[in-house]
Amino acid sequence: MSGHVHDVVGIGIGPFNLGLACLTPPTGLDAVFLDGADGFRWHHGMMIEGATIQVPFLADLVTMADPTSEYSFLNWLKQTGRLYPFYIRESFSALRVEYDAYCRWAAERLPNLRWNSEVVAVEHDAAEDVYVVRVMRTDTGEESEVRGRHVVVGVGTRPAVPRALQGLAGPVIHSSEYRERRDALRASGSITVVGSGQSAAEIYRDLLEGTRADGYRLDWITRSPRFFPMEYTKLTLEMTSPEYTDHFHALPLDVRSHLGREQRSLYKGISGDLVDDIYDTLYRLSAEGPVPTTLLTDTEVTSAEWDGERYRLRLRHGTLDSEHERETESLVLATGYAAETPAFLSLVADRLDWDARGRLAVARDYSIDGGRGRIFVQNGEEHTHGLTAPDLGFGAWRNSSILASITGREVYPIERRIAFQDFGVPADASAPRSAEGLEVAR
Ligand SMILES: Cc1cc2nc3c(=O)[nH]c(=O)nc-3n(C[C@H](O)[C@H](O)[C@H](O)COP(=O)(O)OP(=O)(O)OC[C@H]3O[C@@H](n4cnc5c(N)ncnc54)[C@H](O)[C@@H]3O)c2cc1C
Repeated sequence: MSGHVHDVVGIGIGPFNLGLACLTPPTGLDAVFLDGADGFRWHHGMMIEGATIQVPFLADLVTMADPTSEYSFLNWLKQTGRLYPFYIRESFSALRVEYDAYCRWAAERLPNLRWNSEVVAVEHDAAEDVYVVRVMRTDTGEESEVRGRHVVVGVGTRPAVPRALQGLAGPVIHSSEYRERRDALRASGSITVVGSGQSAAEIYRDLLEGTRADGYRLDWITRSPRFFPMEYTKLTLEMTSPEYTDHFHALPLDVRSHLGREQRSLYKGISGDLVDDIYDTLYRLSAEGPVPTTLLTDTEVTSAEWDGERYRLRLRHGTLDSEHERETESLVLATGYAAETPAFLSLVADRLDWDARGRLAVARDYSIDGGRGRIFVQNGEEHTHGLTAPDLGFGAWRNSSILASITGREVYPIERRIAFQDFGVPADASAPRSAEGLEVAR
């Protein structure tokens, strides 16, 4: 018998595992959470002034599971004297900087978070039937181990760069480091933003004013056929639900993949207000003469070369199937994020479920270990569960489900049905009948 064994070891302390850490104390579970970073900081590269989170403030760490929790956003507003101003502001959307500060406030109240603790391997100790999590201190290099009966992997996603643009020399950046590199961008003579989502639009809007003030050229290029808005209509939002996740999860792999691609516009587009704000800004700036900007849709950057001073971008127009080139001094790749299977799981790969494409086959209860219910993932299951995976509004539901699997009881009530519509064949459907009125196979 060696070393203390925790009930739960959480790997990664982004909003999802931080939410789990906030929801765990009432369960009596002995849990510890590890993160390689030196403290909580939420997408600091995209802390653009005035940017808001894209979900209602109720999508905080705890409220959808436990509205009475002391770790709620409303309680943070109260404790920090911001409740009345927030009330008067009358907006459901918290500022991104507020969400970051709120999460840090919650993190500072939890005794069981270990920062500077990078997980490098997870092993299974068969003798004790526990998981051994190997940790490397990012500040001292010291190695240690943490033992746990259950492991919850919440390591989020990584910046994604299209293959043709990987390994580029020169001042190219990914949107995840925008704020830190903004001044250098503004000091260059020309900037090109590549991408079609919210981050690309926010960066373009943030730099647009500078085309006059700082005199640089600003181009925005996207492969998408248009600058499409995120869809916010309420019947579509009902797809962010337990029952749609049930429906999606039960579909064959190929159907899920196809649907997943189709559904990207639902949550990978641009908020409608921002699209209009960009248009109105272009309109206003154009009153003083042509705005030094080009917006290109249906255009893919197929290659980029840095000559020491500028990039030569090779572009392919999707519909015209023709190529052309553009030059730019700076390049911003707002090309999204992707979930990866963490390398630290390789030593327990034989205990995990894999799909035909070599990805984790995540069960409906978010476990990945052959129904044992001992290893779970957070926000690594978009390919099995669909659009709820990265959604902050669904984090508390998923955590309630994971805690129910671990404790064997519903610590927090878990809604099974929240939508007015049915997904798939409704329960009260009658079987198809032949002309003779006989039931025929569905
Ligand atoms: C700019 C931006 C804005 C977004 N805005 C919204 C929004 O408004 N609404 C919404 O619903 N969703 C939003 N999302 C999507 C999503 O909710 C966020 O990405 C969210 O941060 C995901 O949380 P997470 O807990 O999965 O991971 P992350 O926040 O990515 O955190 C993962 C943590 O794991 C740690 N980690 C990684 N590897 C290891 C390791 N080996 N050992 C220890 N620790 C490790 C990292 O240091 C990190 O702290 C946004 C995403 C981005 C990029």
